[in-house]
Amino acid sequence: GAQTVDRRVDSVCPFCGVGCQITYNVKDEIIVSVEGRDGPANHGRLCVKGRFGFDYAHHPQRLTRPLIRKPGVPKDPALLSHQGDWRDAFREATWEEALDFAAGKLKDLRTCHGDKALAGFGSAKGSNEEAYLFQKLVRTGFGSNNVDHCTRLCHASSVAALLEGVGSGAVSNQVNDVEHAELILVIGSNPTANHPVAATWMKNAAKRGTKIVLADPRVTDLGRHAWRTLQFRPDTDVALLNAMIHTVIEEGLVDQEFVTQRASNFEALKQNIQGYSAEAMAPICGIPAETIREVARAFATSKASMILWGMGISQHVHGTDNARCLIALTSVTGQIGKPGSGLHPLRGQNNVQGASDAGLIPMMYPNYQLVSNPQAHAWFEAFWQTRLDNKPGYTVVEILHKCLAPDSDPHKIRGMYVEGENPAMSDPDLNHARQALCALEHLVVQDIFMTETAWLADVVLPASAWPEKTGTVTNTDRMVQLGRRALNPPGDARPDLWIIQQMAARMGLNWHYPGPEQGVAAVYEEMRQTMAEAIGGITWERLEREGSVTYPCLTPQDPGQPIVFADRFPTADGRVKLVPADIIPASERPDAEFPQVLITGRQLEHWHTGSMTRRSAVLGAIEPMPTASMNSAELRKLGVQPGEPITVRSRRGSVVLTARRDDGTPDGAVFIPFAYYEAAANLLTNPALDPFGKIPEFKYCAVAVSAG
Ligand code: SF4
Repeated sequence: GAQTVDRRVDSVCPFCGVGCQITYNVKDEIIVSVEGRDGPANHGRLCVKGRFGFDYAHHPQRLTRPLIRKPGVPKDPALLSHQGDWRDAFREATWEEALDFAAGKLKDLRTCHGDKALAGFGSAKGSNEEAYLFQKLVRTGFGSNNVDHCTRLCHASSVAALLEGVGSGAVSNQVNDVEHAELILVIGSNPTANHPVAATWMKNAAKRGTKIVLADPRVTDLGRHAWRTLQFRPDTDVALLNAMIHTVIEEGLVDQEFVTQRASNFEALKQNIQGYSAEAMAPICGIPAETIREVARAFATSKASMILWGMGISQHVHGTDNARCLIALTSVTGQIGKPGSGLHPLRGQNNVQGASDAGLIPMMYPNYQLVSNPQAHAWFEAFWQTRLDNKPGYTVVEILHKCLAPDSDPHKIRGMYVEGENPAMSDPDLNHARQALCALEHLVVQDIFMTETAWLADVVLPASAWPEKTGTVTNTDRMVQLGRRALNPPGDARPDLWIIQQMAARMGLNWHYPGPEQGVAAVYEEMRQTMAEAIGGITWERLEREGSVTYPCLTPQDPGQPIVFADRFPTADGRVKLVPADIIPASERPDAEFPQVLITGRQLEHWHTGSMTRRSAVLGAIEPMPTASMNSAELRKLGVQPGEPITVRSRRGSVVLTARRDDGTPDGAVFIPFAYYEAAANLLTNPALDPFGKIPEFKYCAVAVSAG
């Protein structure tokens, strides 16, 4: 019980973007339990990950010494599916030796091959301060803007559409605002698995009469609470959403005042939507026209309607178009800028909002200032007192392509620093991604475990787990929240912020931040100066006092704005821009050889590439092995019973998993979570990119499923 612990330390859950506040109960330097605190996003609630998924921090496989690859040991991606003993491939080193080697070789590569030879992947699992410092290291020390992180695999397309349409990539309304909604449209999202505490707000709203419309090719748990469930065919998002917009316009349900005063480009939208009647789209998306019309009417005429969406919208080659349709639907109905309305892209990782805000993206400095904007470029050159590249860098998938570029390519990437990400599991077409990582002349990986990516490194730097450091993270609701250090890192593992600074010093940068705890505050305060329009009023002292403050927050007295866009949009003309979208098919459609569709995603118990949750005893016990879900009819066709092995193949790879029956999975499709290294879903996925957000099409590719 709480009485018998040595200390209780307040922090934030390290998993999803809901941002539940927690207390770590520590006894004898071990976290013995986690309790939910009364934070603004969770009010004491936690899901199974937050409640039981803390023991990864004490796992015997934690990295405790810097490691250097032994001479002559080849980088072998074949090892990744069975994970041998890393001691065969690496030797332990001192920090001095490992850092000198890690940074020295990067510096040499830049000297020999120029400013484009290096790249860095930062992390949405780390703090804002780490994200800020990491992108500063790449831009000022590597010499290019080749810095990115997992937002590229997550909501990059949503953000592209939001920046274009409403002028801000963040949510307009917070999750718990669903209690003020009369209707919520949850599309391309499985919140009970991926944002479980956020889902409790939705279910409680439904209990009080809010209508939930669940639109998804997979019928998930939230369907039990839904007023209408639209199981539309995979890849037909634009058809469904355009049909809803068409209904609104045709049936005279447009909020004329809103459109006249606050939107631009309505005529173009109206023109384009003509071919998209509910009747014309019904056979494409597989939803009866009358149902599409009914839902569109209910959305338009309710007092307040809100849209929440996830990767089902964003992870397509038409992800940006999908999000454009959501913005248009919200805008033509005037369902934004008031309580219970608006646009909420549910953020995945606990700090993917904050890491993006802090500039961990190749085309923008902190606070979404375009690197190519002369004013922003000049401002940051003056602020950081150095020359900066004004060309956008490459994105995650592009960077991996550039690792395999011919020697003659002046943009060939030869050295990389990966902090807390696991592209050897998370990127599409893993055989290619792993080859790309192996092709690097120098790969530095900083992590807490020997991840699949670390296996391919030249140097591995042992970092600290979330309970071992103090820092801020920003949740899906724009809440900046403070997590405090509860433990010391094991062995010689070090805080990430310290490691980044050591790397910077050896790259020749002259940074002067004070020691550990004050250092975090100093970095935060520097970051705050670069993001005055967002977090200008959120001082470090205030975070220490209040624990959570919502931005935009402009002055120390400002309580923060939970709802934005009440009277203007932060676009150049103050209006929301309506951008028409047409149907673009998935990059790879089923055919005779690969007749089924693969949908990848997550499940409640396991987090992303599984490096943390699969090392948590409780979570591992609940979901111990890789499974592939299909509906009963599909399993019957294959002649496979649940629990039996099946093989799933695509043009890029093949995995063997256990069949699971899930009648919410659509006909002709198989669903695989991507957390399992033994049967990595991303060996199968297609690296085709959305042209605007540069996000890969994780939600649709052609596969062949067979028994055995
Ligand atoms: Fe953690 Fe998300 Fe679960 Fe909350 S809902 S406890 S933030 S994983």
